[in-house]
Amino acid sequence: MTYVVQAGATIRQLLAAVPRSLPLDPLENRILLCHALGVSRVALITQSERALTDDEAARLDALVQRRLGGEPIAYIVGEREFFGLPFRVGPGVLIPRPDTELIVELSLERLPPGGRLLDMGTGSGAIAVACAHSRRDASVTALDLSEEALAIARANAAANGVTVRFLQSDWFSAVKHEGFELIASNPPYIAAGDEHLSQGDLRFEPVGALTDHADGLSALRTIIAGAPDHLTPGGWLLLEHGYDQAEAVRGLLAARGFLDVQSWRDLAGIERVSGGRIS
Ligand code: GLN
Repeated sequence: MTYVVQAGATIRQLLAAVPRSLPLDPLENRILLCHALGVSRVALITQSERALTDDEAARLDALVQRRLGGEPIAYIVGEREFFGLPFRVGPGVLIPRPDTELIVELSLERLPPGGRLLDMGTGSGAIAVACAHSRRDASVTALDLSEEALAIARANAAANGVTVRFLQSDWFSAVKHEGFELIASNPPYIAAGDEHLSQGDLRFEPVGALTDHADGLSALRTIIAGAPDHLTPGGWLLLEHGYDQAEAVRGLLAARGFLDVQSWRDLAGIERVSGGRIS
């Protein structure tokens, strides 16, 4: 890369559209500048005539180079907002997507007062922590196979001031004899060989959180098969899935005896979550 951040340039000069100085899109330029200088977004305006020191320019330059190399901005700054809360993220967990706020909203609507919620494959803890934050009455359990993910998820629960029980578990193995009023999951659902795995942010995310290394439905099948043994009467199972999997997931739910089987659309109008309740 030939791009170099010049020391002595001011914040205003670096963010100017003409002549264009930083090479990323305007939002990303601001995020990396804040991170390099350790200042808030407001400071970019109130301190616009501040000139970068040699150290600051070198720091910003390194961040810009990483982004130009394709690294997700959330990993570079180590944080992503989800459901209005800050989440620490790193290469050991999937970056929380706005699409996933849908399963949080559906879970919050369906969890009875004082209910027990299980988040399977919690990753950064996004679903569990967001639910626990909105529902102080709930008792939230979150599991993941990855110890690295659980460490990040625990930190996110603590940073957001919520109590979540975290378990290292291969799907239901650590909750064998437990019942929940609601089970939610955003499992790996991308099929092996899907071209999206080699594009954009996904290239840098943990492959085990994205794909089942099979047809994309195997984790969803495992959860659907086991969930009735872990749901209390009337309990709901809610599953996030890929843009073209809603019909298949509804079929699996109906075949396992779930009632009220349906799918819900995300903000892009795509059927993103399917679920049902047991009798
Ligand atoms: N929603 C993610 C994506 O398509 C995939 C998440 C997952 O596999 N659970 O980028």
